[in-house]
Amino acid sequence: MEIVEPKILEAKKKRWAESSRRWKEKYPERVGRAIKAKRAAVIALLGSVCVQCGFSDVRALQIDHVFGGGRKERLEKGWWNILTDILENGSQGRYQLLCANCNTIKRIVNKEHGDGGHS
Ligand SMILES: [Zn+2]
Repeated sequence: MEIVEPKILEAKKKRWAESSRRWKEKYPERVGRAIKAKRAAVIALLGSVCVQCGFSDVRALQIDHVFGGGRKERLEKGWWNILTDILENGSQGRYQLLCANCNTIKRIVNKEHGDGGHS
């Protein structure tokens, strides 16, 4: 089902990695703040509460991929691009908020072990 030629994809990934590495070197203190601000905007967009239990402390809320596969998507697109996509195009039912507890339970139920690092 791969429609993009592996070589092209490889070059794209390299370019992304290279430009983000340069940006991080140039503005190390901005990276964390920018991600945090973007993440906060996405959480607000998604309603600011856990869809399972209504938990509303943003410090423990996580942006969850409704259909799973978050780890793969993050590796391919990068967290920054995913957050940008949600802000620009809306969730379209692809993402939801879960608190840390509900996310852990979902992962155990779905056997998505190793898909940690939502933040
Ligand atoms: Zn919850």
